[in-house]
Amino acid sequence: MKIQYLGTAAAEGWPGIFCRCDVCKKALRLGGKNIRTRSQAVIDDKILVDLPQDTYSHMLTYGLDMPNIRTLFVTHSHQDHWYPEELMMRREGFAVDMNGVLDIYGNDAAFHYLDRVEAEALEYSPNKAQIRYHQIREFQEYTAQGYRFIPLKAAHNPRENCFLYLIQKDGKTLFYGNDTGYLPEETWDFIQGYHFDLVSMDCTMQKTRLETNHMGLSNNVDVAKRLRDMGCANDCTKFVVTHFSHNGGWLHEEMEERAKEHGFITAYDGMTVEF
Ligand SMILES: [Zn+2]
Ligand SMILES: [Zn+2]
Ligand SMILES: [Zn+2]
Repeated sequence: MKIQYLGTAAAEGWPGIFCRCDVCKKALRLGGKNIRTRSQAVIDDKILVDLPQDTYSHMLTYGLDMPNIRTLFVTHSHQDHWYPEELMMRREGFAVDMNGVLDIYGNDAAFHYLDRVEAEALEYSPNKAQIRYHQIREFQEYTAQGYRFIPLKAAHNPRENCFLYLIQKDGKTLFYGNDTGYLPEETWDFIQGYHFDLVSMDCTMQKTRLETNHMGLSNNVDVAKRLRDMGCANDCTKFVVTHFSHNGGWLHEEMEERAKEHGFITAYDGMTVEF
């Protein structure tokens, strides 16, 4: 299996779109891996995870073959993960030769947002978007394009059921874990017995420890330790940290140095990891 991180920032991007703090100014000056767009990943060039407002720039920058993407997993409805307005471009009049529908899997909140957007879009153009939305439930098993996947419960926005994803194919298992604070006990109970080849963790606040919603590096260390103690991870497991906010304070190099002390890989926009 292969995962490519297309966007590795938190909500506002890094530099933050309207921010003039020191780390944003420094990121802008240094460029390279310090520039982070909104959260998105692609698995085996086939399964897209989240659809933020930066999807179009990811398509241009990384050669993402959007017309051929058949499957999209949505974690939750926050704007840095879900911009359903873009799906209205998957309609006759806006796209030619779409070759079938895009299957989207996500929670109820993301569906309601999409529904509202689609109702408005149909007012000015009657063509239906070539998409199929599946409202899925946590801890239920699903399949798409030969991948087995299970949405897990996150500790994030109490107003909706935010999902993490367990994704399996050909004997490999990926744990895709943002946005979330330290995992809820129901999720810990559920993953007992699984072994993860790659664990992708939310490290939004970097140097700051958080109680819920997101994590910092010290929270990630706790998660990795518990996974190892439970046998869900071992020395072969790759741990990746991502979804960084400028409020966390560490530019790429510093983040990478701190993460390396714990054996974690620091994600950057465009990074690919095979496992
Ligand atoms: Zn986010
Ligand atoms: Zn800033
Ligand atoms: Zn969020």
